[in-house]
Amino acid sequence: MLTNRPRGVNDLLPGDVERWQFIERTARDVCRRFNVAEIRTPIFEHTELFKRGVGETTDIVEKEMYTFQDRGERSLTLRPEGTASVVRAFVENKLYAQPQPTKMYYIGPMFRYERPQAGRYRQFHQFGVEVLGVNDPSVDAEVIALAMTFFTELGLKDITLEINSVGSPASREAYRHVLREHLAPVKDTLCKDCQSRFDRNPMRILDCKVDRDNEIVANSPYMLDYLTDEDKTHFEQVKSYLDSFGIRYVVNPRMVRGLDYYTQTAFEFMESGSTLSGGGRYNGMVEQLGGPDQPGIGFAVGIERALIALQNQDVQLPIEKGVDVFLVALGEEASKRTVTLLQELRTAGLVADKDYLGKSMKAQMKAADRLNAKQVVILGDDELAQGVANIKDMESGEQVSVPLSELVQKVQQKL
Ligand code: ATP
Ligand code: MG
Repeated sequence: MLTNRPRGVNDLLPGDVERWQFIERTARDVCRRFNVAEIRTPIFEHTELFKRGVGETTDIVEKEMYTFQDRGERSLTLRPEGTASVVRAFVENKLYAQPQPTKMYYIGPMFRYERPQAGRYRQFHQFGVEVLGVNDPSVDAEVIALAMTFFTELGLKDITLEINSVGSPASREAYRHVLREHLAPVKDTLCKDCQSRFDRNPMRILDCKVDRDNEIVANSPYMLDYLTDEDKTHFEQVKSYLDSFGIRYVVNPRMVRGLDYYTQTAFEFMESGSTLSGGGRYNGMVEQLGGPDQPGIGFAVGIERALIALQNQDVQLPIEKGVDVFLVALGEEASKRTVTLLQELRTAGLVADKDYLGKSMKAQMKAADRLNAKQVVILGDDELAQGVANIKDMESGEQVSVPLSELVQKVQQKL
């Protein structure tokens, strides 16, 4: 049915959305401690931004973007990732002119036209962090540590961190040459995309989901063996900081990451073989988008993937459910009085609810149970006439009669 939701997108219903809120709360909380501030950029941008910022030879730009023309015939694209927008905002709002670094995070939906499957959607959500304006290797380690702290505080265990260095343009120049020579004999047998990547960006071939099983591709020389001394030192220092944080990692010399703009440090966090998060340094990108020569590093976590990992590991999330107090009314007058009583309880800071359907006492008590009410206030027309109400403590079963004028206070005391 055309009025049903499109393929690859989800409704987040009450009952599930609390898990999302927990993840978002944890992200915000960890960022606050790392003194990383939130940035909110638009959901759509000029298509050109992603072509330049993500890279023409990436899967995202080659085949995954939701691009459309608006009524002014501009080409716009729903953001497929967050980094390009954050860097654009950094440049456009001249944040580079302030004292550096600029540390920012975002949480929000991203859009990619992919084949939907478990953990892969067309609208999905990312929590991402970007630190601009500093190139110190300790910042690379700090950004990785932020991500690891986030996973730990979600309650996840056994997260594998893989790191690599994809070098600076100087290192890549030498490596690309070597790689082309290595791949030349099989060039014609590679997929169409990779044949065109061969000239434009041969490193992308190493990340191709079709060709990475090709024996020659799989046995390509390592980027790590072609790093300049400067890149080598940077990588060694990142690893040494990670060691000093007690963060375990595996060097994966095969990791190239999907985006064209990465330089030096690249990393991924995995859980049960699935990638939760990817990130890296992107020192050329600010300049690429019209800003000064300023470095940057960041990562993005897929929130849906984090939820799957939490489920895999059977992590019990600290989610508040239910109500503090439920009002049970017997009789017409009492029922009217609960309307205002409810408002009084809520403005006093309590989580309060009542029955709206004129149900029987038994049905109302059932509803209170279903909502896990800690207290139930029972008000009948007779009690109302005497200016009192009963408070039942649902845990002990104990019931007391209190003056209506003191009701809010008494309920509060009992919580
Ligand atoms: P993959 O190789 O799995 O396609 P990617 O390199 O495209 O990943 P990134 O662009 O680095 O992924 O995005 C960072 C994270 O966002 C991923 O590690 C993943 O957790 C999540 N992610 C990416 N695409 C999707 C999607 N279509 N649906 C859900 N989550 C996604
Ligand atoms: Mg992808």
